[in-house]
Amino acid sequence: MATKLLLTFAICRLIVTVGLTLDPTELLPLGVDGHLSVDTSDVETASLDFGGLNRAEPLAVLHPASAEGIARLVRAAYESAHGFTVSARGHGHSINGQAQTTNGVVIKMSDGSKGGRLGSRVSEKLRYVDVWGGELWIDVLKSTLEYGLAPKSWTDYLYLSVGGTLSNAGISGQAFNHGPQISNVHELDVVTGKGELMTCSEEQNSELFHAVLGGLGQFGIITRARIALEPAPQRVRWIRVLYSNFSAFTKDQEYLISLHGQPDTQKFDYIEGFVIVDEGLINNWRSSFFSPRNPVKISSLGANGGVLYCLEITKNYHESTANTIDQEVEVLLQKLKFIPASVFTTDLPYVDFLDRVHKAELKLRSKGLWDVPHPWLNLFVPKSRIADFDKGVFKGILGNKTSGPILIYPMNKNKWDERSSVVTPNEDVFYLVALLRSALDSGDETQSLEYLTNQNRQILKFCDHAGINVKQYLPHYTTQQEWMDHFGDKWSSFYRRKMEFDPRRILATGQRIFEHTF
Ligand code: FAD
Repeated sequence: MATKLLLTFAICRLIVTVGLTLDPTELLPLGVDGHLSVDTSDVETASLDFGGLNRAEPLAVLHPASAEGIARLVRAAYESAHGFTVSARGHGHSINGQAQTTNGVVIKMSDGSKGGRLGSRVSEKLRYVDVWGGELWIDVLKSTLEYGLAPKSWTDYLYLSVGGTLSNAGISGQAFNHGPQISNVHELDVVTGKGELMTCSEEQNSELFHAVLGGLGQFGIITRARIALEPAPQRVRWIRVLYSNFSAFTKDQEYLISLHGQPDTQKFDYIEGFVIVDEGLINNWRSSFFSPRNPVKISSLGANGGVLYCLEITKNYHESTANTIDQEVEVLLQKLKFIPASVFTTDLPYVDFLDRVHKAELKLRSKGLWDVPHPWLNLFVPKSRIADFDKGVFKGILGNKTSGPILIYPMNKNKWDERSSVVTPNEDVFYLVALLRSALDSGDETQSLEYLTNQNRQILKFCDHAGINVKQYLPHYTTQQEWMDHFGDKWSSFYRRKMEFDPRRILATGQRIFEHTF
């Protein structure tokens, strides 16, 4: 009760302060129980993100103790005469300041301490888990594994929050089969931009449910998600094979994802791939098991135009079925047209596979290469134009330097729910192309932030001129016209939903889709 009163008092002060000249130190009345903070370190963390390209200081940071506390803060913002903005921040792994705000409060959803909030609650019988919106996927995994269960659809990296990935889509090599993470959610609790705490699902408040999934934080703050689970595999056979011919590579990828309806024994569980345009990258942070003991020389493989393509596939299994795994993999590999003798195989526990990028993170951190600017560009490219993209970008614009991994893998559109807010190309199959670059101050111009940012612009311009209708994943635009173009036919419903669920445009202003109405 005391906490509630103090929080209410703090919010009143916030409203008054925002309406007058701003002095952030006035936002924190003594004894707010540490929840609404103007500590320099809190404000500093909330001002930055993984991209390192934007900096925006909020007036204060809320460490939430409950969904109701979040609802109270948003309601105060909604009802006040002057208003202020509210942005949920998951793990701050956006690239372009999407979780930042200047005229308001950042809610630190993933602050590590559970407080009085929901932990993970697993239903073994119904195979789902209820989790707090700020929970990191790594923690979701750990808690569900205690019951021998695990979510079905993943991201490559698990130190991302549930609310953060569900606001985008959440994709990895399982998406061809299970759809993105937003296709594997049964129910959500959401605080809307009016400060209402609502439960939504396919059956209940379905408009809000579909709006929030892939909704870029525009319609509400996810405080709880009910996520579908499956029995967790124990081990993973992880295979990489190389191609010098792009058409053979994409044909094989497309063939493999077309097997999604087949029994588990007759398809892979994960299908991704990456592009190798220079030798340095064959041992980059996402290709850990082309080990020095196993050196691969592009020149020795007859790469066409200096570019190689690596298909990455896995098969999950239980120790009890280990005797059949070799044969199942062999049958599937026999149908593919990779370069003979370019097969790299490893075998590891399921958790180690899912958490593979974290290992790379630790390595990069130890070399001071993690906290650098990341001008990433993620595109969905329609299948019909992926060969043009290859010619124009991988074999053209990129030259022979990429400054980071380039992922490429196809997905089946029928695994994506059209009613969600996310937009994808208008074809049955589309590719993710992820240019995951790090800018370095190394003196090499081609590694500089300016060079890589210009190259991103060039790639987008090339697609535009060539009429390749790409859609940005984790989109970033600065004008409303660009956003309207991005959403295309979906813009009118996106706008209508915004007016319904966040009419004062309080939420997630860092996406720069709508301006707050003061
Ligand atoms: P934040 O950056 O904190 O927030 C992102 C947006 O979501 C903001 O607008 C924020 O306001 C909003 N938001 C945050 N929490 C909530 C909430 N609870 N309710 C409503 N809105 C909320 N993506 C993939 O799909 N697949 C990958 O394999 C993948 N790998 C990645 C690897 C790395 C190393 C990094 C840095 C990113 C990767 N991403 C991947 C992208 C990632 O999914 C998005 O950047 C995601 O938004 C990050 O989650 P976050 O918790 O850090 O979100």
